[in-house]
Amino acid sequence: MAENKKNYYDVLGVSRNATQDEIKSAYRKLAKQYHPDFHPGDKAAAEKFKEVNEANAVLSDEQKRKQYDFELDHPNMGGFGGAGGFSGFSEGGFGGFEDIISSMFGGGFGGSARQSRPARGADIEQTVRLSFLDAIKGCSKEISYYRNEPCRSCNGTGARGGTEYTKCTRCGGTGRVKFQQDTLFGRTIQVGACPDCGGTGRKITEKCPDCKGKGFRRVETRFTVNIPAGVDKDSSLRKRGYGQAAANGGEPGDLYIYFQIEPHKLLRREDRDLFVTVPISYKTAVCGGKILVPGIDDMIEYTIPEGTASGTRFCLRGKGVKTVNGTGNLYVTVEIDVPVRLSRDQQKKLGEYEDSVSLRSCENMSRFANNVSAIYGKNINKQ
Ligand SMILES: [Zn+2]
Ligand SMILES: [Zn+2]
Repeated sequence: MAENKKNYYDVLGVSRNATQDEIKSAYRKLAKQYHPDFHPGDKAAAEKFKEVNEANAVLSDEQKRKQYDFELDHPNMGGFGGAGGFSGFSEGGFGGFEDIISSMFGGGFGGSARQSRPARGADIEQTVRLSFLDAIKGCSKEISYYRNEPCRSCNGTGARGGTEYTKCTRCGGTGRVKFQQDTLFGRTIQVGACPDCGGTGRKITEKCPDCKGKGFRRVETRFTVNIPAGVDKDSSLRKRGYGQAAANGGEPGDLYIYFQIEPHKLLRREDRDLFVTVPISYKTAVCGGKILVPGIDDMIEYTIPEGTASGTRFCLRGKGVKTVNGTGNLYVTVEIDVPVRLSRDQQKKLGEYEDSVSLRSCENMSRFANNVSAIYGKNINKQ
């Protein structure tokens, strides 16, 4: 069956001259929309999700996008990532998980790491959902996705036994040929994939029966990822060689794992720091005392001083997120919980209590009253 390649721009719903930002945002939106987690057992959604990932893997990489654009304009030349194998592939070529690329761990996306050699297979992006605490403490997650895996029977060549091929005569085995093109600016010469061999440089004399000459097979890839403690929403893990098989003798692409982190009911996170708001009673604010603060593993006992104002923030040093770059703090904001629906009797008692407190004990109110009297000439008491 011929590969009915959808136009990657149509898949993402962006124009041919979309910026990287537009591509990224379109991808994120669609990846969320069709994420298999939200459509368990839905084949159509899974297929759409796969398409979206493939389209993004190409369009988000300037190098690959350029090649894709070129091939879109020259459809008779054998497609991008189309039929073709790759030589020299060996299982030993698979590295383990080696990189965590994120602002937190240093190093960035793009740049040299992604300036791939042209013939590499497409990268695949997968999103893993983590609970708030799993992201902080680390965990292991099973991952499964579909990809083109190099065919082992033919070592990715597409030729039976990996040997039943000869050099392509049109390109002399290089896989590249020159094209003449008439453009607005005159005649130009461009180099592109050889149409006879699809850029592989090989003519297969006998096709590999296992992959029907394609050099790769669509397989489900499944493994368990150990997610280190402290990953964040901008972190990603790379598993080298776990992306799409390459055509033209290139290396397979990489798998990038991103994290979608669920919010916590009490804690909020900013990089390594955690933030929490704890309601306290008026009496605790006035007299000081022990409060319990939600921490990562358990509640933490903390003593606030006498006369703590509502909105005061305390820092629990070293109680934040532990990462390879250090450990953050836990910031606690206390807020006086004003009681509602007090009985007449309780309100009366509160009034008696308040009458007993002199204005001198209320620093802000007395400063306020002094200013009012100076500016407006009016005397106010506690209000
Ligand atoms: Zn094969
Ligand atoms: Zn050729």
